[in-house]
Amino acid sequence: MIPAKSEAAAPHPGRMVVCLLLLLTLAACARGKSAETPQPAVSSTLVPTSLDAGGTAPDIGPAPAFNSTRAMQYVKEVAAFGPRPIGSANHKKLEDYIYAHLKGDSVEGDAFTADTPEGKFAVRNIIAKFPGTRDGIIVIAGHYDTNYPLRDTGYVGANDGGSSTAILLEFANQLRGKKRDGYSVWLVWTDAEEAVKEWTATDSLYGSRHLAEKWEKDGTLKNIKAFLLEDMIGDADLNIDQDTNSTPWLESVVYQAATRLGYQSHFFGRTISVEDDHFPFVQRGVPCADLIDLNYGYNNVFHHTPQDTVDKVSPKSLEIVGSVTLETVKLLEKIK
Ligand SMILES: [Zn+2]
Repeated sequence: MIPAKSEAAAPHPGRMVVCLLLLLTLAACARGKSAETPQPAVSSTLVPTSLDAGGTAPDIGPAPAFNSTRAMQYVKEVAAFGPRPIGSANHKKLEDYIYAHLKGDSVEGDAFTADTPEGKFAVRNIIAKFPGTRDGIIVIAGHYDTNYPLRDTGYVGANDGGSSTAILLEFANQLRGKKRDGYSVWLVWTDAEEAVKEWTATDSLYGSRHLAEKWEKDGTLKNIKAFLLEDMIGDADLNIDQDTNSTPWLESVVYQAATRLGYQSHFFGRTISVEDDHFPFVQRGVPCADLIDLNYGYNNVFHHTPQDTVDKVSPKSLEIVGSVTLETVKLLEKIK
């Protein structure tokens, strides 16, 4: 994902200094990742009526019990495959691994051929559906491929690719075998999120762009109540960024969920603009929230480097994001 939006550069006297800092930040960042503006936490003004952040909290039962030990074990196993770029044998092994963990679930593959600057690649989004009694779908997504240009460097993407794969596998465990008295939840392991050469609108997000288009055509998009994206959520020093491309009211619900669990200090301390797998859905009007910590190591030094290894990922961070995501799903059920 990248923060490619340049809105922070728009003339605005009060933000001139910030803009200068931003330009320095961008210049210092090899892949132009981060647009940073310190801002207060999310506004509650756009929270749907029944979820006013200042009002009484709805009764949604006990806090979710997310099994972070198992999620961390998945991170280790996924990273142990080694580099998992599209087109690689390790990528195929990981696909099989994901399918094996979803045995017995309702699973669909969204397979197609992506035409990239490095040639054609088989790409496959993996979708596990957990049906509910209520009309509407909550999507929780995260990518499982790893960075393509770093494929020969030993890069394992423990956080970038690994943590998202793992947290979704654990969500499947949480959802499996339970009657869902609410919206359906669809887990989506997106593929080919990473650029093969350099991030552009056409060299990136191959899987999510394909899926958004497909779901637009077959009418699925209209039924999606919320799209929650998990990306780089395992960083031991966890600070989930607020993303200006995400939907404000949905970020407010996430923040409310975090607050209910006492984890709000890990959320939205800074604001960035990110183009990530949610973006093709945002562009089509789907409410989206990208849960991403794009400051991985001091000054993001571990991001897209061979230093993105398992020791930088913490089970506590997986627990925080995992339980906040599940709490968000519960809160969304309360929205009329
Ligand atoms: Zn990446």
